[in-house]
Amino acid sequence: MVDGDRVWRRLQELAAHTATPGSGVTRLSFTAEDMRARRQVVAWMRASGLEVGGDEWGNFYGMLRAGKGDGAVMVGSHIDSVPGGGAFDGVLGVVAGLECLDARRHDPAKLRRSLVLAVFAEEEGARFGEVLAGSRAAVDAAAREKVLNAKDASGCTYREAAEAARRELGLPVASGFDLDVHAMLELHIEQGAVLEQAGVELGVVTAIAGIRQYWVRLTGLANHAGATPMSMRMDALAAAAEVVAGVEDLPGGPGSPDTVATVGQLVVSPNAANVIPGEVRFTIDLRDPDREALARCAAALHRLVQEVAGRRGLHCSIADRSAWEPVRCHPALVERLERVCREAGISHRRIFSGAVHDAGVVAQLAPMGMLFVPSAAGRSHCPEEWTGPEAVGKGTRILCTVLADLARGGDG
Ligand SMILES: [Zn+2]
Repeated sequence: MVDGDRVWRRLQELAAHTATPGSGVTRLSFTAEDMRARRQVVAWMRASGLEVGGDEWGNFYGMLRAGKGDGAVMVGSHIDSVPGGGAFDGVLGVVAGLECLDARRHDPAKLRRSLVLAVFAEEEGARFGEVLAGSRAAVDAAAREKVLNAKDASGCTYREAAEAARRELGLPVASGFDLDVHAMLELHIEQGAVLEQAGVELGVVTAIAGIRQYWVRLTGLANHAGATPMSMRMDALAAAAEVVAGVEDLPGGPGSPDTVATVGQLVVSPNAANVIPGEVRFTIDLRDPDREALARCAAALHRLVQEVAGRRGLHCSIADRSAWEPVRCHPALVERLERVCREAGISHRRIFSGAVHDAGVVAQLAPMGMLFVPSAAGRSHCPEEWTGPEAVGKGTRILCTVLADLARGGDG
């Protein structure tokens, strides 16, 4: 039986493992708080009769092997957090996934496919600066060296921290991916307010938005704020302001209704009240679930920066900061999640994810589906992050139903 109350209790229990009690969940990968949370999850996995193992990349897995081997179905998420984050981001997908495996523990012989609960490390990138580090290293051999060599602020490498964590937990080297993953499901909080505003109980995810991030540098001339007439200036910040306003217009222009565009960080030089800004560096973050819309926005953005800089006689450069391709959820899994919601009488709608998720990485290997529960007031990555127990229970039930169906070998 799927026990929604237990999922709820476990969310609260794991939230206690934080470096900032009273100020949200701060649980960076492989820190003392993370190790306490990992130990707890491993204990729950073992109590559910799962075989537990850890890989070289800091991830760990609980596995329920099928009677006859025909690949595996994976479920999971992450338990690391941002500084001062919430109790639900990632953790929900782990404790709900555990509930799904626990519900099947007494009849492994009836499973056609094994079940794997994956707990991915460093999803947030808050300690080592590598977002989705654990899942990328597990899935993509080309990403491994960069992840393993990433260092935290103290100079400790990901490799050292991950290996120490696996040993400390006494986990044998084993990866859930060795069981030949046939499909991946992840339950997650929405982290936005679309579901709440629409008044629906669950969101069936159709795609994870792609991201283009840039560093833009505009170089003018620093000069005296009093002695330089307006007609003789090369003000880098005034130019940047034009670009910022233009970026806000990209979604309504070359983008799609789903495009979002943000300038989140500006570094103004020399940043003094009586000096005309000589140089500004700033980030631009573009996201869209549609590849073509993203490409159109990226091209328009380059034209915008060059046009503003050219007209004002400034130097400009645009450097890629990071890029993620959009990922589509598998249509058959989208339809299956919708059908199960319908049969359970749970209201739902299609939605895309503006945030990246581990399931989007696993999609490189296997069909992937995601389910969202609403986030109260759309708040996330903050202590106010909240999803009620009823929604947690409903999300868990739908996840478990679809997972059990896949494990029995149902494909339609
Ligand atoms: Zn997350």
